[in-house]
Amino acid sequence: MRGADLKRLLLCTDLDRTLLPNGIEPESPGARACFDRVARRHDVALAYVSGRSRALVEQAMAEFDLPRPQFVISDVGSTIYRIDPAAWQRWEAWDGSIGADWQGLSCGDLRRLLGALPGLNPQEEVKQNRHKLSYYADPEVDADALLDGMRTRLEADGIKANLVWSMEMPGRRGLLDILPSSAGKLQAIRFLMLRSGFGLRNTLFAGDSGNDLDVMLSEIPSVLVANADAPTKEQAAKAQNDALYVATGGYLGMNGNYSAGIIEGIAHFWPEIDAWLRGPGREG
Ligand SMILES: [Mg+2]
Repeated sequence: MRGADLKRLLLCTDLDRTLLPNGIEPESPGARACFDRVARRHDVALAYVSGRSRALVEQAMAEFDLPRPQFVISDVGSTIYRIDPAAWQRWEAWDGSIGADWQGLSCGDLRRLLGALPGLNPQEEVKQNRHKLSYYADPEVDADALLDGMRTRLEADGIKANLVWSMEMPGRRGLLDILPSSAGKLQAIRFLMLRSGFGLRNTLFAGDSGNDLDVMLSEIPSVLVANADAPTKEQAAKAQNDALYVATGGYLGMNGNYSAGIIEGIAHFWPEIDAWLRGPGREG
């Protein structure tokens, strides 16, 4: 660590189909190299914010040769790690702050309490974590009825939960994540900002889909990458949120998809980095 200026800008980004070009849209050549240069600036602290577990975040970092971040918010915001050159340190204070919602139970306890559930199958062990219990749902399941039933069931046991529902592409299986009610991407980013001394003027979030929306509709400056799906773009447009920028492409001749969209958002919110990216000197 090189002093306070290292923490001047907190750059938070989702991984799948935001930083990782693993969607159907093309990636601009050179976009990830450009992101890498920004992420390596001494005044930028990088945070990955993902539904993935730590093991699957590490797998993505290796596969796509991503820069090492200072923070990782994994498991849909139910785990936070501080990363130093030698190790990943689990931020236990975050677990402590969200654990009371589940009455101190962990994922395995909650799974035993719920027992067998019709239409739901537990996800692989690598996708479960202390404060995240995840299921696959049959493709034909009535999601509203399932979520209502789950809410009633958890409330009866005194469990306060945040139920995060999404659809798997291309399989169209339902994905249900059960988290403590005070956990989630937005809540975890707020915790990180507060504990690490970042405010709204020096934080940026980038995302692409439904489970990023709570952050993008909040007061936190955010960018929606151009390859986002149509329903997410519609919701973003409806929100008329000044803190949300939707990437369109065209910046530095790039298409606004994935990391090009993140860079476009960085340039929109941080003029100093815009000037640096456009300028001849890129030593940072
Ligand atoms: Mg994503």
